[in-house]
Amino acid sequence: MRTWQLMHGVSEDEIWKAIWNVGGPPKLSHFAWKACKGSLGVMDVLCRRHIRETSCCPVCNHHEETIMHTLFECKHAGTIWMQSEFLDLLTEAPSGSFSDRVRWMAEKVDKEQLRTFLALAWASWFCRNKAIFEPTTAFDPIGVATGMVKLVVDYVEYNAKVGMQSRSHHFPSAGRWFAPPGNSIKVNVDAHVTHGNGVQLGVVIRDDAGALMDAAVKSIDADWAPVMAEAGAVRYGVELALWSGAGSTAGLHESDSGE
Ligand SMILES: [Zn+2]
Repeated sequence: MRTWQLMHGVSEDEIWKAIWNVGGPPKLSHFAWKACKGSLGVMDVLCRRHIRETSCCPVCNHHEETIMHTLFECKHAGTIWMQSEFLDLLTEAPSGSFSDRVRWMAEKVDKEQLRTFLALAWASWFCRNKAIFEPTTAFDPIGVATGMVKLVVDYVEYNAKVGMQSRSHHFPSAGRWFAPPGNSIKVNVDAHVTHGNGVQLGVVIRDDAGALMDAAVKSIDADWAPVMAEAGAVRYGVELALWSGAGSTAGLHESDSGE
């Protein structure tokens, strides 16, 4: 915390509150938080940790892959921001770090816009990972970005309808993503097999009061039988539940707050 303050001249709590305040799925906050802390697994970070030998961007092969490069400058990110409402603002925005940029942006735009801004950064990260880990699958960055923004808006609207009583009215401390769930969580999964277009998996996680905790969709380029797709959806649901920290009642939760 002290080191952070010295580096950024602002407390970690302040950044966390700004991110948490915009609402949206916990996965979005989690992503934004990691990007602010400089702990997204880009080549530059991995190289400094001696996990990789080169910091060259694996997507464009032209630049050092810093967090700012991958989220704003690399080819898919560039396409996304070019079409966004933030294009003009970005020409003036600080470029030193993601947290500097988020703080600056938070003073220029309203809460909904800041949420969209984070969703587009998240979409850029998603495209980067898709390009690296699924190199043979073609995708449209604008389509990904539009889908991401819609997912975030749907989440916020759904939560507003459900009423999200206590959960959204207090700030969890940094590094903790939800108040612990009550007695149980409910994970709903869904799978659609479309011939020629792969398999779409959907997961919705609710707490025992019915409030939405997380939601995600994923498409897999595979030709699965329906029963296989169902199994894939269940597995995805379990992964997401654990990943979201919803599995903490069973003593299982992702712990990267110490990074
Ligand atoms: Zn690049």
